[in-house]
Amino acid sequence: MDIVKSTLQAVQERIAQAAQNAERDVNEITLLAVSKLQPVASVRALAEQGQHAFGESYVQESVAKIQALRDLALDWHFIGPIQRNKTAQIAAHFSWVHSVDRLLIAQRLSNERANHAAPLNICLQVNVSGEVSKSGVSMAEVPALARAVQNLPNLHLRGLMAIPRAEVDENKQRAQFALVRTRFEELNNMGLQLDTLSMGMSADLEAAIAEGATIVRVGTALFGKREG
Ligand SMILES: *Cc1c(COP(=O)(O)O)cnc(C)c1O
Repeated sequence: MDIVKSTLQAVQERIAQAAQNAERDVNEITLLAVSKLQPVASVRALAEQGQHAFGESYVQESVAKIQALRDLALDWHFIGPIQRNKTAQIAAHFSWVHSVDRLLIAQRLSNERANHAAPLNICLQVNVSGEVSKSGVSMAEVPALARAVQNLPNLHLRGLMAIPRAEVDENKQRAQFALVRTRFEELNNMGLQLDTLSMGMSADLEAAIAEGATIVRVGTALFGKREG
């Protein structure tokens, strides 16, 4: 069997199994294929197997890739750190941004999103492990940022994204995802209408799905090791 097809199926089966273990509907969970540092041909091969959503982290690389694959009408998600001088390109080329962690960036994305385009879907990146080196808004500051972002006209606040510290112990891994889920539920109890928990990568997607992930961001398990 074709290698691309079989790796995609293997990841889809992991997701289906994790959903079943959690007694969740697998259709609630979107596989985001993280194609950063992967060549256009690899993205095209995966798209030909029916994969529709792709995640990128580096603006320059991704804009070239998006343009080269324009014929496929793929769904592009920006998941990397955001520099303020790159927000216009992100607003122009992506339909989702998972890595918003401060108001200034959200305001720029809203101002730069074309008025005729659909609102840009936004997740707030939360620093769940509290590591100073990590990007993401602190857990305490999430509600205020969520309220402010929700009021920006060209954005649609969808939920939260997290990249917790890697844990060997699955219960510890789950505990971090559970903190994000609890925050998410608190925001909905405050009256926000969020539907997206972007959490889980190649190594920890099972733990994330057990705690309610609706988008898992998978790179290595689909494409193999990245260069660089
Ligand atoms: C690179 C990256 C991923 C994918 O990680 P893998 O371990 O290769 O699955 C997911 N999310 C973000 C934010 C990333 O930067």
